[in-house]
Amino acid sequence: MRWKTDITTHRQLCLHCRKLHPLGRHTCDRCGSRLHQRKPHAIALTWSLAVAATIFLVPANLLPMMVVRSIAGDDAGTIMDGVIYFLEHGEAGIGIVIFTASIFVPFFKLTVLYYLLFIVHLKRYHKARFGLKLYRIIHFIGKWSMLDIFVVVLMVGIVQFKNLATIVTGPAAVAFMAAVLLTIVATERFDPRLMFDTELQVASDTNPQGVTHA
Ligand SMILES: [Zn+2]
Repeated sequence: MRWKTDITTHRQLCLHCRKLHPLGRHTCDRCGSRLHQRKPHAIALTWSLAVAATIFLVPANLLPMMVVRSIAGDDAGTIMDGVIYFLEHGEAGIGIVIFTASIFVPFFKLTVLYYLLFIVHLKRYHKARFGLKLYRIIHFIGKWSMLDIFVVVLMVGIVQFKNLATIVTGPAAVAFMAAVLLTIVATERFDPRLMFDTELQVASDTNPQGVTHA
């Protein structure tokens, strides 16, 4: 599969103002940003950030997200406990929102990131367009990722209101925020154009920046 890209045509795009430059320039002459044909160290950074986010998701789901302090004593609950609590108490809507924002979305985003990395590594060019669609979805969701945090706050508020108990966030909240932030940065560091770079094009990209092609 062959298509024209900035690499085959020896150009580089400014990611900030979208001006196309000939290869060999280091900074954009319109906005002054540094120019790179591909985001530097995109694959290594995406891998390490995605793996770190995955590791943080383990304590985020296994440790208590909130601790309810009442006269009866302390009662700690994980995210899933919160979901089950709302489902059992006739608040299926809230339960589903929490499940989607706190469990489904974080795992979906990381699964997509790993899939995109595999497209690049295994050179599945025929999957590149599908991969780009998935990338746009997780990039769009990224803007709403803090929704996950708001859901936790909402959950704390609702339980506090209903039980008249004191609620503090558990250690899972910190791990969860770390996982969410690392996933956002991992998505930003990934360069979706890598999926479209065929072997021939990648070879020409190994030329050091600043070498002007004849
Ligand atoms: Zn620019």
